[in-house]
Amino acid sequence: MRVALVASEAAPFVKTGGLGDVVGALPDALLRVDPELEVVTWLPLHRVLREAVQGLTPGPWRHVSLGGRDEPVRLWERARERDRVVFVDAPGWFDREALYGHRDGALRWAGFCRAVLDGCADGVGGGVPDVLHAHDWQASLALVWLKHRRAAGLERTRGVLTIHNLAYQGRWDGSLAAALDLQDQLRFDRMEWHGQLNYLKGGIEAAEVVTTVSPTYAREVLGPEHGQGLDAHLRHHANKLVGILNGLDGSWDPEADPALPAPFSAEELEGKAICREALARELGIDGDGPLLGVVARFTEQKGLDLVLDAAPALVEEGARLAVLGTGDQDLEDGFRALAHRFDRRVGVRVAFDGDVARRVLAGSDVLLMPSRFEPCGLTQMQAMRYGTVPVAHAVGGLRDTVLDPGDGPLLAGEGTGFRFEHPTVEGLLWATRRALRCREEDPDGWRRLMRAVMRRDWRWDGPAARTLEVYRALGAP
Ligand code: ADP
Repeated sequence: MRVALVASEAAPFVKTGGLGDVVGALPDALLRVDPELEVVTWLPLHRVLREAVQGLTPGPWRHVSLGGRDEPVRLWERARERDRVVFVDAPGWFDREALYGHRDGALRWAGFCRAVLDGCADGVGGGVPDVLHAHDWQASLALVWLKHRRAAGLERTRGVLTIHNLAYQGRWDGSLAAALDLQDQLRFDRMEWHGQLNYLKGGIEAAEVVTTVSPTYAREVLGPEHGQGLDAHLRHHANKLVGILNGLDGSWDPEADPALPAPFSAEELEGKAICREALARELGIDGDGPLLGVVARFTEQKGLDLVLDAAPALVEEGARLAVLGTGDQDLEDGFRALAHRFDRRVGVRVAFDGDVARRVLAGSDVLLMPSRFEPCGLTQMQAMRYGTVPVAHAVGGLRDTVLDPGDGPLLAGEGTGFRFEHPTVEGLLWATRRALRCREEDPDGWRRLMRAVMRRDWRWDGPAARTLEVYRALGAP
């Protein structure tokens, strides 16, 4: 079976969040379950990726005709046995500093999808794929055109969509439809959404199976609270919706992580104390109070305003706070002001830095994750691997991974963290104080809890096997 993964980002090449982690980890994970598989990842050649194609030979220039223009495009292919990557080099669309947020997003991602389909039909990437697995809205048009304008050669290719975050849909002015060859899709049951063109809505309609990244989120998106305006559309397609929890790749290993100042494991926890000390030094934090960590994109979704509101009380009560993130200006300003107000008790790094993320996750005692919604969430699993106990809002993937049977059982080594039911300051304070009280009153129990969370299995094997089942159920060979 040949599978084409189509996405806007994939680690280690380029990553801005969980999407990149997942698309980066899937090929290896799928190949471990079925070594006969061939996996081809299709990525845009973003400017930051130009180095990744050094030493490769590009295919010939071709053209993608869209929006009244012929855009020059060429494909660079990197083959490593059964794991290939094809970079779509369209300088006019992707040789840019920022990955996202451009005004011509409708055109660039349509162009990317067109180039992918043309390449697949021509057998680039080792041959025509049996399954085209598109990720998020940026790749959704590949499914729309696959279903509604099946190119010669792609008649047998099956389409799968994974929704990593329903909050991002790719909504554009409906007047663009004709130029983008989407005029026939501007219908209520396809891509039309309040007069706009909605790429993700089209992907949902066109995919044969829609997966999302946790079982709870797969249920939540069917309702108005978390459906982001597409819940009715998703209910209509509910019979093809599947929830498969993401996994963690093998680099999340506290015994062998080169970003950490000392290794540790569930059996040998000593190194974690060294990580805590080093992190405190790195972020300018004094004292030995319990260290609360935050690693997140600074967006409304992550509930970081609640952390800003809860932090003063927690710090006054003796806790320390280590924060890494970047994003919305008001949150960046808010955390900088907090660090200023609580000098040497709150340490903030405004950046996107994978190594610092690993050190915050390893050096903290507790991870705060008060997300308003969370499709899956990888950060809480990463924290757990590093013996850091999550305090989380019980929503989406957090509900599936942060299991809270109450203080007694948690301290006996059952369960994986502290949950609160409502995303409010009171909820966050209540659950964080519970965690800190448990840690202080029963250090042995807390170590049992740390060991229990570290031993949880978040490997990709199970999720990859389920993904393969999805492909096979579609009749892929
Ligand atoms: P989302 O995809 O919504 O951002 P996830 O928890 O699914 O949230 O995944 C976030 C990923 O990005 C994790 O691998 C996390 O460690 C990483 N990450 C988040 N913020 C930063 C940051 N500021 N620097 C480095 N890595 C980060």
